[in-house]
Amino acid sequence: DVPDIATPVRTQAIMNQFGINTKKSLGQNFLTDINILKNIVAAGDVQKTDNVVEIGPGIGALTEQLARAAKQVVAFEIDDRLIPVLDHTMAPYDNVTIVHNDILKVDLEKEFAKQFEDVTAPLKLVANLPYYITTPILMQVLQSGIHFDNIVVMMQKEVADRLSAEPGTKDYGSLTLAVQYRMNAKLAFTVSRTAFVPNPNVDSAIISLTPREPLAIQPRDEKRLFELFKIGFVMRRKTLWNNLTTAFGKGEAMQAKLTAALAAIDLDPRTRAEKLSLERFVELHNALFDAGV
Ligand code: SAM
Repeated sequence: DVPDIATPVRTQAIMNQFGINTKKSLGQNFLTDINILKNIVAAGDVQKTDNVVEIGPGIGALTEQLARAAKQVVAFEIDDRLIPVLDHTMAPYDNVTIVHNDILKVDLEKEFAKQFEDVTAPLKLVANLPYYITTPILMQVLQSGIHFDNIVVMMQKEVADRLSAEPGTKDYGSLTLAVQYRMNAKLAFTVSRTAFVPNPNVDSAIISLTPREPLAIQPRDEKRLFELFKIGFVMRRKTLWNNLTTAFGKGEAMQAKLTAALAAIDLDPRTRAEKLSLERFVELHNALFDAGV
């Protein structure tokens, strides 16, 4: 029976033992409230039959709870200083694999195939994300097309609001579209700033994402659909025409293709991407694809 890492006293003791302090530049706010960690694991419905991916294990507070609940945990940590700490704190658990790497540089599909012993087990993602890269991480995970049975992630409240934003609002953007294309998003619970060491200066929320039914309209090419989500919002205040010509080119032949694609789905080139629903984005992608853009 190993004592929990997630108490303020033990967290400080571990950091002192290894002579480290938290780095703001890496988004290091460590959870020290055991009840919150247990609620996160419960929100992920983590079972002994599950493979779990964690991004940013820190000193292992959440990793430990996941290790006790899951079949295997693969955790990605960028900070060199934390690798010996994790070697020490995770020593009691034989089902934890730490990968020392920047998650944004990892080929997820390859790495999961390499690290998980049983690749047929259900796959979940459970993490207290480094907030400075919440959006790129979620875009990477969703763009990969890897099937997750659920994704339970802590992020700043401000980003969480974007996941369920409606077209035409300021929170609506490429992240909204990427999430809604694959998943149903639900707020599991919010977390007080005092649950972390040090306290973050933003509010936090735990979001639960579960796979959705496929859309009625299918994209011709998912990878290019995700690219279009981003292209639409490169210049949020500019028209669709402006962003499309910036991305694809302003030559005469390209302009003719773009005009044909927009006309085919009855879309005014002066529209702003922020007005387009997810379905409309897929229609636009298909029309561009069919016009040879
Ligand atoms: N899971 C721990 C907890 O809940 O107490 C720590 C969470 S802390 C908010 C975020 C963690 O992500 C830190 O350990 C940080 O070093 C790590 N991190 C930051 N950038 C990263 C990156 N690009 N790739 C992998 N891990 C990263």
